[in-house]
Amino acid sequence: MTEQVVIAGAGPNGLMLACELALAGVRPVVLDRLPGPSAEPKANGLVGQVIRQLDMRGLFHLFGGDNGPPKPAYGWMFAGISLGFLGLPDNPMYALLLPQPRLVRLLETRARDLGVDIRWGHEVVDFRTDEHAVHVAVRTGDRTDELVAGYLVGADGGRSMVRKNLGVGFVGHTSDIVSRIAHVYLPDELLVPGRGYELPGFGLLPFGNSRFENGSIVVFPLEPDRPMIGTIEYGWTVGSQEGPISLAELRDSLRRILGVDVPVQPPRKPGAHALRRLDGINSRQAERYRVGRVLLLGDAAHVHSPMGGPGLNLGLQDAVNLGWKLADVIAGRAADGLLDTYQSERHPVGERVMMHSMAQLALAAPGPEVGALRTLFGELAAKPEVAGHLAHLLAGSDVRYDVGDDHPWAGRLVPDLTLDDGRRVADLLHEARPVVLDLSGGALDVAEFPERVDVVTGACRHAPAALLLRPDGYVAWAADSVDAPAVSGLRAALARWCGQPSVARMPTVT
Ligand SMILES: Cc1cc2nc3c(=O)[nH]c(=O)nc-3n(C[C@H](O)[C@H](O)[C@H](O)COP(=O)(O)OP(=O)(O)OC[C@H]3O[C@@H](n4cnc5c(N)ncnc54)[C@H](O)[C@@H]3O)c2cc1C
Repeated sequence: MTEQVVIAGAGPNGLMLACELALAGVRPVVLDRLPGPSAEPKANGLVGQVIRQLDMRGLFHLFGGDNGPPKPAYGWMFAGISLGFLGLPDNPMYALLLPQPRLVRLLETRARDLGVDIRWGHEVVDFRTDEHAVHVAVRTGDRTDELVAGYLVGADGGRSMVRKNLGVGFVGHTSDIVSRIAHVYLPDELLVPGRGYELPGFGLLPFGNSRFENGSIVVFPLEPDRPMIGTIEYGWTVGSQEGPISLAELRDSLRRILGVDVPVQPPRKPGAHALRRLDGINSRQAERYRVGRVLLLGDAAHVHSPMGGPGLNLGLQDAVNLGWKLADVIAGRAADGLLDTYQSERHPVGERVMMHSMAQLALAAPGPEVGALRTLFGELAAKPEVAGHLAHLLAGSDVRYDVGDDHPWAGRLVPDLTLDDGRRVADLLHEARPVVLDLSGGALDVAEFPERVDVVTGACRHAPAALLLRPDGYVAWAADSVDAPAVSGLRAALARWCGQPSVARMPTVT
């Protein structure tokens, strides 16, 4: 039997892609070598534009978001420098606290509810492609079987076997920076609520990211009984590139940076606690996200410093970009070339993340010169237009896709519109289908649109007269008035993004 899609990796990005495919009618098989969902503490939350896309799937509240539409954060950090976004028009900087293991479980449940076949304890060990299929060798215990699939997606993390097997270059740089992080217990009497920890002989170590002469420290009191504390040191230090990290090694690192002993102890509650050292920080991106029937997704396609937490914003949006395209190609609704836009649209977004995460590493380096640069950067970042630039950069909303339409809204994620009757545009995209939003008051003849497209009529101030939204929420076409040239633009956009419907069934002007 031939599967439509095999996804290697049931991390957040592989599972998100599986959900998107299932929404579009394709049931992928997801394979993961782990025996079950990973409890490894990694990301603590989601930031940026992906939160709006989760909202478009009805997942924002399910994932713990507050009632109502997502609300942007008033500020964020850049290399530990505070950025203020209060009063910023169209502030795109959304944030949602959500530990990665919980995210994986939520996505696994959703994928299963949508009919996805998830197989834990199944490792992809090899594959080969021919003209018609991908032959995937899968190891379970001591036996190896072959799965035949139309497509293989490598969502198998930064050390991706799929990427290596393809021979795709992972281009970039490894910085000689050592970071250590752990969940710990710190004595209650040191806690200064809402501010940080008062350390004997040092003073207040504030929550968040603090840069010192010899490195940086991050302290996140995300869970009251096991705060996270981490260090970032530039250059190889004692213990780096050796065996597993111990708490004593973290204590030594803290002492090198702060000059005093920090009495960190193991967390007192049971569970999977973080205690990790990263020897070197990779900023690397796959040269190609697609080689024929094999695609790369998430960390398999790009790795970078976790500073500012851009990883899942990037990877989950990759998944939302790829899902409907792959499903449309498999269903014969779109030509194979649609899949190439996955690379042309998402690779530049990854490049922006490489750029800003490396810039943050540079700005967090030790030394008085960097200190001076930070002062200057902070002064510039206080200017509203610079703050806006940084907000869009960090949110991943500053890249405009080339969708073949020059309306100012085209190629961007549709704003969080509310129609006059109270419906939110985000709610129209739960099923991940293309939407023609006719706000023209009846100028567009919507009687015979392609079957896959939802047509919604309504009224909305401050919006164009009509919009075509792709399933990922991006505006594929927009017009301020519905006249004959605009409608021919809509026909072209429908043909390009929603398959090849017969001309007889295309919209006209009434
Ligand atoms: C300490 C730390 C903190 C971070 N903090 C943040 C943060 O705050 N915000 C943020 O957005 N991001 C953060 N990140 C980054 C984020 O964790 C990653 O971007 C994310 O895990 C990538 O998801 P993924 O699904 O692409 O890959 P992974 O999560 O790595 O999942 C890959 C899956 O593939 C499986 N697999 C691997 N090889 C095979 C194979 N051959 N066959 C079958 N299965 C295979 C693995 O078992 C795994 O389950 C952090 C990362 C770290 C390490």
